[in-house]
Amino acid sequence: METSKTQFQAFLAQKCPKCRQGDMFKSSTYNLLSFGAVHTNCTVCNLHFEREPGFFTGAMYFSYGINVAIIAIVGICTQFFFQPDIFVLVGVVTFATIAFIPFTFRYSRMMMMYLFSGATFDSTFADRSPKA
Ligand SMILES: [Zn+2]
Repeated sequence: METSKTQFQAFLAQKCPKCRQGDMFKSSTYNLLSFGAVHTNCTVCNLHFEREPGFFTGAMYFSYGINVAIIAIVGICTQFFFQPDIFVLVGVVTFATIAFIPFTFRYSRMMMMYLFSGATFDSTFADRSPKA
């Protein structure tokens, strides 16, 4: 029996916002062939993840913000510690941005889901495990 996760733990583990048990994505983050595949409904509480047609389009705004943060952090740290040529700096920042695409994609959708889906935690699902 699994104890109930906090909302932040469930967010980090990419779990459903309603039951905090069911996985939102079908595969692991760095499975490059299917990192973006989202379950249609939660495997535990049957919450429909795409709340309305085009719901996840709004995740682009979160994705933009995450990418700006990655570019700023990697760019500033690289410049501060190594003072590279501008082309090397741009290459490093570009590589970091591309390497984090699965992470950015998934967590931008998670932010959209947790902030705007309207789904609230229902503790009746806390001890249920996902269906196969
Ligand atoms: Zn659920």
